[in-house]
Amino acid sequence: MSSYDVIIIGSGPGGYVCAIRCAQLGLKTAVVEGRETLGGTCLNIGCIPSKALLHASHQLHEAEHNFAKMGLKGKAPTVDWKQMLAYKDDVIGQNTKGIEFLFKKNKIDWLKGWGSIPAPGKVQVGDTTYETKNIIIATGSTPSTLPGIEVDEKIVVTSEGALSLPKIPKSMVVIGAGVIGLELGSVYARLGAEVQVIEFLDHITPGMDAEVSKNFQRLLAKQGLGFTLGAAVQSVETAKGKAKVTYKLRKDDSTHSVEADTVLVATGRKPYVDGLGLEALGVKMTDRGQIATDSHYATNIKGIYAIGDAITGPMLAHKAEDEGMAAAEVVAGKHGHVNYGVIPGVIYTHPEVANVGETEETLKKSGRSYKVGKFSFMGNGRAKANFAGDGFVKILADKETDRILGAHIIGPMAGDLIHEICVAMEFGASAQDLAMTCHAHPTYSEAVREAALACGDGPIHS
Ligand code: FAD
Repeated sequence: MSSYDVIIIGSGPGGYVCAIRCAQLGLKTAVVEGRETLGGTCLNIGCIPSKALLHASHQLHEAEHNFAKMGLKGKAPTVDWKQMLAYKDDVIGQNTKGIEFLFKKNKIDWLKGWGSIPAPGKVQVGDTTYETKNIIIATGSTPSTLPGIEVDEKIVVTSEGALSLPKIPKSMVVIGAGVIGLELGSVYARLGAEVQVIEFLDHITPGMDAEVSKNFQRLLAKQGLGFTLGAAVQSVETAKGKAKVTYKLRKDDSTHSVEADTVLVATGRKPYVDGLGLEALGVKMTDRGQIATDSHYATNIKGIYAIGDAITGPMLAHKAEDEGMAAAEVVAGKHGHVNYGVIPGVIYTHPEVANVGETEETLKKSGRSYKVGKFSFMGNGRAKANFAGDGFVKILADKETDRILGAHIIGPMAGDLIHEICVAMEFGASAQDLAMTCHAHPTYSEAVREAALACGDGPIHS
């Protein structure tokens, strides 16, 4: 029987990164993966395929709306949906094969099949039981739907079905105005579908800085997305290839319905721990169905750890990756650490939206005095040249010490721009530190510097 120092169950960004770090630290490592390809939700049916479709549909949008303004005349391209899906699948293939290559390079065994834990120190895959000193559960998450809604992945789909629809629907209802619903909703809106987003709350993107959230909704509405907020979906019925979504408006309890070719249920995700045998082992769970861990990712059962979407915290690939590295350090007898105060969140629509740290709402709630430095992309030369003037950078800094507490960006390349603020926050920098750093011209990053200047004596270009 083979035995290992570590067996990781699940090869998503949590599991595969953890495995590579374990191997680099000299541990004999194996990963159990039941899916045909490595990379988990993120590479197969999540981050990567959604970004491929966002990229392709954005190119179409640019051709339709901005090319002629730059003197690039001629017909806008037509959509070959089959080819767009093939491009997306090719991107997936390149990425998942890349993980296979990294496993071989780092001498990590891929134990193919669905794993369970019959006892501490043992992992079973098919008929084989493997001995291991440590087990790390990285089994990720799965879409959670609403009670009474039957997903058939044809007409009523989760994000998985939405990434491979047989054709572009003429109309789509998206239930849930979170990151996944808005990203995929904007893909189909750009490809010509009439998209209506129905959200239970009175605002989109729960947890986001309210000012950014409002502006974001306005910009998405300008792109043609419709919003029905404060609405509780009651049922989704399908007949003759169409769906009827019935909802109640919370403000007056009135009932309404809307028909669509496709309904995307994007109401969040829940940890996936089925078939692991956690109940029999006595592994403690939270009341939200996540595996309960301490600050070292240890469960209550010695030698069993858990990371990523299966535990508490934001369901993000980079959070899972960081936990993967930290857990590897822990099992290797070192000190793994993740700074949960500096985990960026990004929405890859156009414009992009990115955030890190505190919002004005969380600061008000905690009673901390703060100042706001804001700068519009309208004042940024590069953004103007690129038709990307919508949006702004907003930095929140401590009123007395000037230390950066959070940042919110809506605008071009926001998902990349946020990282200089993340680094600054990791180093405990003040807004003035950022403001005094020379930024190349003409770049979008200058808007970040201007927002930092706005925390002090004021920005230059507004
Ligand atoms: P997963 O990636 O879910 O991987 C878990 C793996 O474990 C799966 O491959 C599964 O098959 C395997 N597994 C489960 N049980 C077993 C078992 N018993 N035996 C063997 N294998 C098992 N996050 C971002 O940060 N940025 C984004 O842009 C982004 N976009 C997204 C878009 C969509 C449409 C979706 C659905 C998600 C997106 N996410 C994004 C979230 C991101 O995909 C997850 O946070 C991330 O994949 C979690 O990583 P993980 O390693 O915890 O689990």
